[in-house]
Amino acid sequence: MPPFFPASNPCKIDMRSLDEFATAKLGEIERSNLRRTLVETTRVTGIWVERHGRRLLSFCCNDYLNLTHHPAIKEAAIAALRTYGIGAGASRLVTGNHPLFAELEARLARVKETDAACVFGSGYLANLGIIPTLVGPGDLVLIDELAHACLWAGARLSHAAVVPFRHVDVAHAEMLLRELRGRHRRALIATDGVFSMDGDLAPLPALAALAQRHDAWLLADDAHGLGVVGGGRGSNFAHGKKADVPLQMGTLSKALGAYGGYLCASAAVIDLMRNRARTLIYSTGLPPPIVAAASAALDLIERQPAYAALPLTKAKAFARRAGLAEPVSPIVPIVIGAPEAAIAASRLLEQHGFLVAAIRPPTVPAGTARLRLTFTAQHPDDEIERLAALVRRRILEQAPATAVAAQ
Ligand SMILES: *Cc1c(COP(=O)(O)O)cnc(C)c1O
Repeated sequence: MPPFFPASNPCKIDMRSLDEFATAKLGEIERSNLRRTLVETTRVTGIWVERHGRRLLSFCCNDYLNLTHHPAIKEAAIAALRTYGIGAGASRLVTGNHPLFAELEARLARVKETDAACVFGSGYLANLGIIPTLVGPGDLVLIDELAHACLWAGARLSHAAVVPFRHVDVAHAEMLLRELRGRHRRALIATDGVFSMDGDLAPLPALAALAQRHDAWLLADDAHGLGVVGGGRGSNFAHGKKADVPLQMGTLSKALGAYGGYLCASAAVIDLMRNRARTLIYSTGLPPPIVAAASAALDLIERQPAYAALPLTKAKAFARRAGLAEPVSPIVPIVIGAPEAAIAASRLLEQHGFLVAAIRPPTVPAGTARLRLTFTAQHPDDEIERLAALVRRRILEQAPATAVAAQ
């Protein structure tokens, strides 16, 4: 049978200004050494990847517990696929609310010690839905200057006044609140719990106390915390005692190895999300196999906190051997400075069998292009030693003036 849509004769649309715009813009990006390309990469296991026909040990996946390839979790996804099919078929508000959501949301709320939880299509979509549901024109969002792009995007989408405070600087946030709080109806403070490009922790207990004093609502994004810090329960449990964070969002795509986002909060807030968060209402529910996988992953983390401690232990062992400051999360940045130097360092490591991403502006501030290493539970200790020796001798000692650990 011939294909239904013949491949020949694609219709050529004459929209020259559009292509000229795209080409000129790409030229600008290229000249700043910031052009990005997608490189086909096959993840063979939780730690090994294949790229350009070579097997490389990856230190740039956020799969902290290597659950993307865990046999029991894959089985949970396969079983859900057999029972419920591939896609949800509709928004959760229509017919996409398959029975697996309730179980996952109950687990999330239990781990985060909140009344309720709500799952979104992704972490990015969660923040785009949560922030405009809570604040709007006339309100105030104070945001850590290094907060993740999707917290910024959600804040801007809300049309509230968005004011950054200096990175992890509680005194600066307090000064801004004193000055600005009285002029706004509602106020929200937004921060990462674990910062995605620096690996440091937000001072959540102090921010929570500050927020309470000024009647501001604290939203902490725990994308890199759940499953890896605070006994696996996340950044609001990583400071000795539990930080009182009323809005705890995060992702199911990093340590949980699946996909999706969530908010854990009071029953009233979660109910409001289900009624008002546009990215929840107007977007299809997550595929059932993905929800089942996230649920099985969370179950594993709850039952095996010792396994969840491994990524940080490995990151610390690496830093000790490389001569870097002790990390507080499995994310270890090595700031190089110029984008081309960061790329050269990444290439060097790749020649030795290690995949380590060079992170460049605008993902990080100008002048702070870096290597970003993420450590995971199954990274072999001897390979970590080999990588540390290479980083120390060939990167840190080569450029002592510019290459420094960000912390
Ligand atoms: C990765 C990340 C997100 C986005 O989560 P996705 O589920 O991948 O969309 C949000 N916030 C932070 C801090 C992240 O690192």
